[in-house]
Amino acid sequence: MNIIENNLKFKNKLKKTNKLSMIVIHHAAHSRAAVDDIHKWHLANGWSGFGYHFLITKDGQIYRGRPENTIGAHCKGHNQNSLGICLQGNFEVEKVSKIQLKALIELCQYLCNKYGISTIKGHRELRATSCPGQNFPLMEIKSRVFGKFDTYTVKAGDTLWSIATYYNMEVCKLMELNGLKGSLIYPGQILKIM
Ligand SMILES: [Zn+2]
Repeated sequence: MNIIENNLKFKNKLKKTNKLSMIVIHHAAHSRAAVDDIHKWHLANGWSGFGYHFLITKDGQIYRGRPENTIGAHCKGHNQNSLGICLQGNFEVEKVSKIQLKALIELCQYLCNKYGISTIKGHRELRATSCPGQNFPLMEIKSRVFGKFDTYTVKAGDTLWSIATYYNMEVCKLMELNGLKGSLIYPGQILKIM
């Protein structure tokens, strides 16, 4: 997977975040808009500029928007703790291409592993909007991103250490994968394992 860097000029200094727990998926609601176009639109909104962290074009290229450690402007009320990924296209009327879908899944898997993220939402699941469009396969994305993990249901007496040992994982990896901040787990809890 390759992320194409660029040097967008943001109007204001972007605020930092270090508590990422979610990915929010959007569409550009425009068939051909590229990073520079969206950057101009978002500047015209009075924002600092391109509000997402990534744009995936129809040919499956992944472009960097805001740096991952800065707060985006893509989903009011959820920007502090989420990464925004936008897909080129208007999926109210178009369909997501296979190559674009593949790039999105790879990017989501990379980010979920890197930050221990276990929640992916479409914009419309958080706000009153149709974004990322009625044709967008949200369920398929979620199951394909998380489908590569097996799950384990915690039983009474289990500890993170015993589960990690059983699956030959490091405890810190198990915690990262599940977004756990401490060692507390409870019977019935479903953990992702690798
Ligand atoms: Zn959106």
